Parts: sequence; structure tokens; C-alpha cells
Amino acid sequence: MAEALVVVCDVCGEPATDTVSIKVRGKSRQQDLCTDHVAVLLNTSRPAVRGRPTKKGVQKRPTARRKKPVARRKPATRKKPVARKPRRTRVPGPVMPDADNTPQQ
Ligand SMILES: [Zn+2]
Repeated sequence: MAEALVVVCDVCGEPATDTVSIKVRGKSRQQDLCTDHVAVLLNTSRPAVRGRPTKKGVQKRPTARRKKPVARRKPATRKKPVARKPRRTRVPGPVMPDADNTPQQ
């Protein structure tokens, strides 16, 4: 005797097609939804934004501050690798012992 496990929509009980993950009040939750309720969720929600969750009323200021520091940091990261390269060129000098391995005398 065979049994089949059918995942049903947590809202209406129809066969579920997707499992959605939601974060509410710091807790992650999952919900199985049918195509209709997934469509409702997609129509009434917005895509998550990367980075820190923005607080209410402070949404405009952080985005304006982030753009300026990023532009200043790029030139600083380029200067450091250039200073390291001359040190590497000095290393091949001691590598010369490879020539000593060959019997010259
Ligand atoms: Zn449903």
C-alpha cells in the first residue's frame, strides 16, 4: 500500500507549489503556498534590499551617505599593491643558487 505526501497551501489548503521564507520580528518563518497565494504575496510585497535593514523614517539618509565613501576607498586600495611589487623583485636574487647546482668548476 503506497502513500503519498502532499504539501498543501497553508492559507487555503490547495496543493502548494512554493515554500516562502519570511522574516518577521527577527524570526524566520516558512509558509507553503499555492500558485494563487504566491501571486498575491508577490503582488503585495517588495524585493528585499541587501545590507542592513533600514529603519522607519531614516531610509533616505543612509543611501546618500554610502555613495561617497565607496568612491574614496577605491583609489586607496589601488596604491597598496603597487608598493608591494618592488619587494618581490628582490627575492629572485637569492634564488641564484640554482645556477650553483650545475657543476661549473
Ligand atoms: Zn492558497
